Amino acid sequence: MRRRITEYLELELDTERWHCVRCGRDLGDARGNYKHGCLVWERDPRDIHRPVVEGTYTFAPDPEWCRVLEFICPGCAGLVEVEYLPPGHPVTHDIELDIDALKAAPPSAEAAQ
Ligand SMILES: [Zn+2]
Repeated sequence: MRRRITEYLELELDTERWHCVRCGRDLGDARGNYKHGCLVWERDPRDIHRPVVEGTYTFAPDPEWCRVLEFICPGCAGLVEVEYLPPGHPVTHDIELDIDALKAAPPSAEAAQ
């Protein structure tokens, strides 16, 4: 049984695997970090948030202080997640589910439809 976790991620409870909602691609162990199953595109934050004024302080993020990581499904090239981190900071593990509790829970009325 698959359960939708985010707009772009679903969980296959029987196999304990993450999957892309759009194409079904396996994105890794559900007890681990789905981001490790994605392609990563490190973007220059100035390409995303263009300077709005000239000078030293442009309102564009400084790439020495901020990096933008886009996590992309290797199956359909869909954007799964975007993360803003200081350089050198490890990728965050933002979704950690109690898989055993989900398996033990009865299917919801929504899932039964
Ligand atoms: Zn996909």
